[in-house]
Amino acid sequence: MNTSLDADRQAVVEEVRRFVDREVIPVAHDLEKNDTYPFELIDKLRAIGIFGATVPEAYGGSGFDLLTYVQIIEQLSRGWMSLAGIVNTHILVAYMIATYGTENQRQRYLPVMAEGDKRGGICISEANAGSDVQAITMAAVRDGDNYLLNGSKLWVTNGVHGSIFAVLARTNTALHPPYRGMSVFLVEKGTPGLDVSRTFEKLGYKGVETAELVFTDVRVPAALSKNLVIKVLRLPNSYLLMYEFLPLICLEAPKVKDLSIS
Ligand SMILES: Cc1cc2nc3c(=O)[nH]c(=O)nc-3n(C[C@H](O)[C@H](O)[C@H](O)COP(=O)(O)OP(=O)(O)OC[C@H]3O[C@@H](n4cnc5c(N)ncnc54)[C@H](O)[C@@H]3O)c2cc1C
Repeated sequence: MNTSLDADRQAVVEEVRRFVDREVIPVAHDLEKNDTYPFELIDKLRAIGIFGATVPEAYGGSGFDLLTYVQIIEQLSRGWMSLAGIVNTHILVAYMIATYGTENQRQRYLPVMAEGDKRGGICISEANAGSDVQAITMAAVRDGDNYLLNGSKLWVTNGVHGSIFAVLARTNTALHPPYRGMSVFLVEKGTPGLDVSRTFEKLGYKGVETAELVFTDVRVPAALSKNLVIKVLRLPNSYLLMYEFLPLICLEAPKVKDLSIS
């Protein structure tokens, strides 16, 4: 695999490298030790466009390819791993919307996400569903023109400071095997019934919050143009593991894409 970048892309990575040397490394130790959320660094990352790295240019991002993005993240991680957690989680949600979202969703979410004003979070894991994604129990029950989401999501990176959450829920409990009948909904912070119930103390990877989000009758429109991003209908395996799920929804769209609503 050729991992070299063209001169323009290499210059971007070099700029991030210098940014990390200048802005991140001098403060990383204290931020990590004191478990401090890096508000100032977030503003600086916003200023250099990191939150829009892979967002298409048409929606206000830089439209970098994934190889360039990986090398940017490599630099951020070199300075402080927690920054990579904040940015990666956000970028995954933006990538999901860019890949699967409707035009309406792209226009609504991607520009504010590219700017870093609103950051994304991923709500997949639950108390009894980590690697084994198909064990999730969060229910999305159709109620007229809406779905009602009920359940709890654990270990949500960006759960406190993020604003746009991609939430995996079970829309159909009758389907078998159980990896079927799941969909991803976009839920914005501030939606009634969505609460951050607690954050978790960690041994390392500090400064970035890991939270529990509780959903109590959270009402999201069923219309595809609103909140429903993807309905997971077909997957290549008979089971679904976390490490497979994220690449699948983000990188291999054609294999799982089915946006029909029943
Ligand atoms: C700091 C932090 C941030 C996180 N952020 C998020 C987030 O933003 N959003 C989110 O949804 N989740 C998040 N998670 C949850 C994370 O995705 C899960 O921890 C992960 O999927 C593993 O699940 P688990 O912890 O339940 O471990 P388990 O699935 O119980 O796994 C325990 C051990 O068993 C092994 N194992 C599991 N299945 C198999 C198998 N079939 N064969 C062999 N070995 C196996 C695993 O490798 C592991 O060593 C976060 C977790 C942490 C710690």
